[in-house]
Amino acid sequence: MTKIASIEPLLARVGIRNQLLVKVVTEDGLYGWGESGLSARERSVAATVEHFADFLVGQDSRQIGRIWQECYRSQYFEGGRVFTAAMSAIDIALYDLLGKRLGVPVYQLLGGRQRDTVPSFGSCTADNIDENLAHARQLIDAGWDCIRVVPSYYDRGTVFEPRRSIARTARDLVTVREAIGNEIVLGIDYHHRLSVAETASFCGMLPSGTLDFLEEPIRCETPEAYAALRRLTDMPFAVGEEFASKWQAAPYVEQGLTQYMRLDICNIGGFTEALKVAGWCERHYIDLMPHNPLGPVCTAASVHLGAAVPNFSWLETRQTPVEELGFHDPHLFPVQMRMEGSVYVVPDAPGLGIEVNEEAIRSADAPQHVEPPHLRRPDGSVTNW
Ligand SMILES: [Mg+2]
Repeated sequence: MTKIASIEPLLARVGIRNQLLVKVVTEDGLYGWGESGLSARERSVAATVEHFADFLVGQDSRQIGRIWQECYRSQYFEGGRVFTAAMSAIDIALYDLLGKRLGVPVYQLLGGRQRDTVPSFGSCTADNIDENLAHARQLIDAGWDCIRVVPSYYDRGTVFEPRRSIARTARDLVTVREAIGNEIVLGIDYHHRLSVAETASFCGMLPSGTLDFLEEPIRCETPEAYAALRRLTDMPFAVGEEFASKWQAAPYVEQGLTQYMRLDICNIGGFTEALKVAGWCERHYIDLMPHNPLGPVCTAASVHLGAAVPNFSWLETRQTPVEELGFHDPHLFPVQMRMEGSVYVVPDAPGLGIEVNEEAIRSADAPQHVEPPHLRRPDGSVTNW
């Protein structure tokens, strides 16, 4: 009765983004939900979920660690973020299922909860300093003690010019710090749009103490580039949302290249892999600061992970008074994680503690694929989104 009967990817457009949900059903009719985090390339992940379903149907749904290994090793070629995004969703769904089967919340399966609430950070994403200052004040008044801002663009449409961006962003950050004082943690996500040299220049423009963390200033394919950057600045980094395995996270943890681990449970390989990375980070006194830009399934999985590990700082949230993104549509997801001010309350319900309105998702208009902006430099060359 615990054997897997079906594994199905379900693509939906929710708010301004796609969400790829995965439903795993066992022979006794129980089911669990997972979500995959490879935003904008969901169709590739859905096809991989179907590959995995070919050999997972009929297997015991409770052998979660073994299933992870079989999926990872099932192709000759090692690793790959499409594979682990698919595995993440399946792994999360299997934990949801097992929690429901045993009548316990998922965090009980991870060693029990270590905290009563899971703190979050909120984002200020306006493109002008006045609005961002107002949003920061609104978040602080509502209880947030950690705030993240986004960099200035040269042109918010499709053009990114780094020097203008870092000059204006550095100036704005000094203004924000003066306004919010030193008790609030302040970070920025540069969305890997800079080079090593540009990042060093940016950090040099900021008086010491302006910024508490700099998230992904450069791309993360090359840990040695972060090592070079580390020699040019003492700024704490927050890196990891794109990691697709413990192997990818390893050099960043072991060589001190990130000071916060931004792992995404829907990309790194679900609970099974996230817990291993968390343990590795604990050894190096690095706190998790999980990436959570998706929907209620990702948020719930991240809350359970955050509840169960000792080394945790803030969970990213896109559910704040200053952002209206529609990712947590209550019609599509009638039961979700509950927030009290800036913190998520650790739930008591079995499994993840979420409900999906499957009928509504299936009856919605055909999913409209959302493609992220393709940024270019003023000379027409391609740069990073
Ligand atoms: Mg980021």
